Amino acid sequence: MGNMTTEVINPSTGAVFTTVPSLDLAATDAAIERAAQAFPAWRAVAPGDRARLLRRFAAVVDAHIDELAGLEVRNAGHTIGNARWEAGNVRDVLDYYAGAPERLSGRQIPVPGGLDVTFHEPLGVVGIIVPWNFPMPIAGWGFGPALAAGNTVVLKPAELTPLTAIRLGELALEAGLPEGVFTIVPGKGSIVGQRFVTHPAVRKVCFTGSTEVGKSIMAGAADQVKRVTLELGGKSSNIVFADADLEKAAASAPGSVFDNAGQDCCARSRLLVQESVYDKFLALLEPAVKAFRVTDPARTDAEMGPLISASHRKTVETYVEGSDVAFRGDAPKTDGWWFPPTVLLAHSTDDPHWREEVFGPVLSVLPFTDEEDAVRLANDTEYGLSGSLWTRDLGRALRVSRAVETGALSVNSHSSVRYWTPFGGMKQSGLGRELGPDALLSFTDVKNVFMAMGD
Ligand code: NAD
Repeated sequence: MGNMTTEVINPSTGAVFTTVPSLDLAATDAAIERAAQAFPAWRAVAPGDRARLLRRFAAVVDAHIDELAGLEVRNAGHTIGNARWEAGNVRDVLDYYAGAPERLSGRQIPVPGGLDVTFHEPLGVVGIIVPWNFPMPIAGWGFGPALAAGNTVVLKPAELTPLTAIRLGELALEAGLPEGVFTIVPGKGSIVGQRFVTHPAVRKVCFTGSTEVGKSIMAGAADQVKRVTLELGGKSSNIVFADADLEKAAASAPGSVFDNAGQDCCARSRLLVQESVYDKFLALLEPAVKAFRVTDPARTDAEMGPLISASHRKTVETYVEGSDVAFRGDAPKTDGWWFPPTVLLAHSTDDPHWREEVFGPVLSVLPFTDEEDAVRLANDTEYGLSGSLWTRDLGRALRVSRAVETGALSVNSHSSVRYWTPFGGMKQSGLGRELGPDALLSFTDVKNVFMAMGD
């Protein structure tokens, strides 16, 4: 069919270890058309049966956690601890949304002259486009609720990290999902991803990736008034007030930005510290950064693995060159795309490392004077995805939580993602919400039906 192949590289060594197909336009169209043909029957599956199939899919994923995690360690350099959590997250999201088909109730609205009811109708084929930084969870946040709502799904993994998605596609068939209901379409963004935007049978595109590509997808979707969910970039703040538990805040700060080698849209890559405790806090932070264990991600004690690719490492390096380095951790000097955890002092809010999404293990630090100043600095970005604040003052925690323009915020902790709660961005970090009780509805359209009572 004229398909090419893509080489898959282990970022811990830089070595190619397998190849996967990269589908061309004709093969992409064929996959979309099979998904469109599978839609009527999938939508007609009784809610209880669809629930049972999704639970079975979750159980098959659960039985393959170690295999899936192993693939992600090799393909993406994720630590084995993270990769197991990620595979478990796919299982949990499937189980959670398996409860949804039987609860997808519409409303009965009082109107004169008859009966008015609403239905949440599935859309048809949903196209899901996934980035390389969290291949498994981000795929699951799309296909779990999309399938539960009665849609069929075509899913494009990132070119760099296709292996777990391809395996999940096989596991879905093994669990009994009918052919064509959930299809993995590996290939280039400019071919496969773009086709999801232009093919009329794809009724919604659920995209996670850079803000730049997200904007082009939103613009392209306008042509067919195609629905979109966009999960885009971030430049989130970790705000530490003087009254906080500084020891705890310092001990947890490295994980909040260096986890997954900083390749996390929710990374707290900007650290704002109240100036009265600035020196003290940096003194507490330094040993925690130096102790952050960067090593072979297959080791169970690894806290951080390598960056995803040689070219990405070059990009991350440009933010450090010529900047004021406060201190750095260690990284292996062997082959592979290693990069040490790095803390930079910002001297102005114009510094690129303060302003731009680095997407690497680089933390940018700036002091602030008071609450108002902290909120102003935190909001001085086009992004608004995540963030944290540390204080013992309950009133301040509430005031600042309401004032920071971001989709997910945590107080005295660094959590952004829990599958029970909504996740997504404000401003240019995205459009729509994934996860939580309402995500299913974003894969449906409301239909209102009025039935006349008759004379
Ligand atoms: P990317 O935008 O380069 O690619 C994302 C996906 O889009 C890939 O599968 C790619 O092949 C595809 N793509 C590229 N060009 C396309 C096009 N023209 N049409 C359709 N599809 C296209 O992003 P990336 O480098 O893979 O991922 C990193 C970015 O993702 C970061 O900005 C990060 O913040 C963001 N991200 C956001 C979230 C979130 O939930 N908000 C989660 C993870 C990552």
